[in-house]
Amino acid sequence: MTTHTTVSAYAAPSPKAPLEKTTIPRRELGEFDVLIDIKFAGICHSDIHQARAEWGEGTFPMVPGHEIAGLVAATGPGVTRYAVGDRVGVGCFVDSCRECDNCRAGLEQYCTGELGMVGTYNGVGRDGEPTYGGYSTHLVVDENYAVRIPESLPLDAAAPLLCAGITLFSPLNHWGAGPGKKVAVVGLGGLGHVGVKIAHAMGAEVTVLSQSLRKQEDGLRLGADHFHATSDPATFQQLAGTFDLIVNTVSAELDLNAYLGLLRTDGTLVQIGAPENPAPVAAFALIGGRKSLAGSMIGGIAETQAMLDFCAEHGITADIELIRADQINEAYTRVVASDVRYRFVIDTATI
Ligand code: NAP
Ligand code: ZN
Ligand code: ZN
Repeated sequence: MTTHTTVSAYAAPSPKAPLEKTTIPRRELGEFDVLIDIKFAGICHSDIHQARAEWGEGTFPMVPGHEIAGLVAATGPGVTRYAVGDRVGVGCFVDSCRECDNCRAGLEQYCTGELGMVGTYNGVGRDGEPTYGGYSTHLVVDENYAVRIPESLPLDAAAPLLCAGITLFSPLNHWGAGPGKKVAVVGLGGLGHVGVKIAHAMGAEVTVLSQSLRKQEDGLRLGADHFHATSDPATFQQLAGTFDLIVNTVSAELDLNAYLGLLRTDGTLVQIGAPENPAPVAAFALIGGRKSLAGSMIGGIAETQAMLDFCAEHGITADIELIRADQINEAYTRVVASDVRYRFVIDTATI
């Protein structure tokens, strides 16, 4: 039996139930652990998918939150990477096997070891205990699964980079977004708006594909060169065969065949959004232009640090609406309605 301390948090007591204030256990500081005084936690659409059991059952009560920014409040005796007072972030996972090929290659998110990637919440840690996420006041995490938030990035607007930032940075980096490349970002939500900023900073020509032109002004301000409404069928004719890379961040099922038609020869459509139901793909949507349909999930620890350093260099943070903890349920409703400009962040002092 491990000893623990009790901290305040917001949890969904059961699938689809509103989140409410509660207390949760945090393990005692281990040799290589840091205690983080959480300052801010972003609300990712994945939090909603999981709190509503849209990806399968899930473990309840569930404390979501994997866009965590805070300060180191204490360190275990073996900790070398961080000191009390350091600005740190924690993203979507808090452990992995550390021994498989993927872990060794810095692709901890694709850990194939027995432990697998241990989710920051809705997971089970090495100790066999359920993990609880960032909608809380404190977190204990192994120092190897925390990253450093550069001084120039404000903690509140940097928090969403821990998931939204890395989730877009990794595929943009992997598929070579840069000068001379035409990149489309589908969905201008939490992930999409950070993706636009990062792709623009990488030097790509960026197009936003949004349901309507409602967010056009914002899209252009964020760094997009072009903005089109997917509700207009003319968009799909006008842009046929245009893009080297399309990153689909939409949280709902889309007609992927229509989007594959927007790729040029050898182009890649990367699925980032994680809707509940599968979408059919036609062979002819791929074979006619040697096109690729791919997926990508968050990013590894080293790449997350590289992303934060890149964002610091380019002055990139998320556009956020800071909320109190008692506004989480209202925020969930607004995210599902695509009514967020562009990420809700919880001020955890209000928990
Ligand atoms: P979000 O803020 O809700 O943004 C999603 C955007 O998709 C919306 O703003 C909207 O953009 C568009 N959209 C929503 N419903 C739509 C519909 N029915 N048809 C067409 N477009 C629609 O969500 P998010 O936090 O960015 O997350 C997006 C998705 O990525 C979620 O499924 C989440 O679980 C997933 N995710 C995946 C990873 C990964 O590692 N692969 C990591 C984090 C999150 P417009 O208003 O511009 O149309
Ligand atoms: Zn997320
Ligand atoms: Zn592993």
